[in-house]
Amino acid sequence: MHEIKDISPEKNLNSFSLFIGTGDCNANCGHCAGVPLRKYAPKEDGIIDEAIIYRTIKNCYDAGARYLSLTSCGEPMLSPLSVTKTLNLVKKCENEEGIKFSPINIYSNGIRIGEDKKFCDEHLSLWHDCGLTTFYITVHSIDMKKNAEVYQVNNYPPLEKILSRIHNSSMKVRGNIVLSKKTVSTFEEFVSTVNHLEKIGIDSISSWPIRGQEDDKVDYINGPSEEELDKMENWINENKDIKIKVKVLREKDHAKYEKKEKLTLFPNGILSSTWCNH
Ligand code: SF4
Repeated sequence: MHEIKDISPEKNLNSFSLFIGTGDCNANCGHCAGVPLRKYAPKEDGIIDEAIIYRTIKNCYDAGARYLSLTSCGEPMLSPLSVTKTLNLVKKCENEEGIKFSPINIYSNGIRIGEDKKFCDEHLSLWHDCGLTTFYITVHSIDMKKNAEVYQVNNYPPLEKILSRIHNSSMKVRGNIVLSKKTVSTFEEFVSTVNHLEKIGIDSISSWPIRGQEDDKVDYINGPSEEELDKMENWINENKDIKIKVKVLREKDHAKYEKKEKLTLFPNGILSSTWCNH
């Protein structure tokens, strides 16, 4: 994890992310980028720093941000009270001050959504009513055994089940594919993954090559080559059969963080442009 610098939102701000919840996670990925931040996270679900979040919402909105994402140094689905409280605060800003964000996204590994129907019944529609629009589900592989291996869990639930539970609450699902030699890194693997995800009803896909933990640079040893990335990008641009939005994010897109068009409020209260969402 590189140094986090506190900065003030500038006028060209596009989007921002808020860290929420405890650092608890139901997965155990190697080199988890959230681990170094967990010492700053609240120990109990439901604890949020309303004053700092409110100030960040207001400042980022004034600087132009209209997209909001909720992220975590653990798994947000294990901190549902914090999610509800944060969404309620965002809704209050909309109702009382006309501060409106759309879309409002939340990152998740999908495990609890696929495994815990009662949890879904209790929270998903409620969150939709509070303004949540999209789940960003990380998809390492369309082979659930491989997915379970990367997450280091015994079983990973069927992606179809995760999608249907989110769709049943009138929200959308973006699949986030981390391009890595362990899972998806060749053009052929990418095409079959995208085709499968589209077939089972995913709404959009974003993918990016795995990045180094220390230097946050594209990791060409463990990820796809530039040549494979070019093929993926060309296929997306030229293929008229894909009906959903599919993106491969490359260095030029990462530059948005450097240009401070994307900011993140970290659990230690610092607003920075350094985070790339895991
Ligand atoms: S799912 Fe995310 S937070 Fe959990 S261990 Fe994996 S990378 Fe870390």
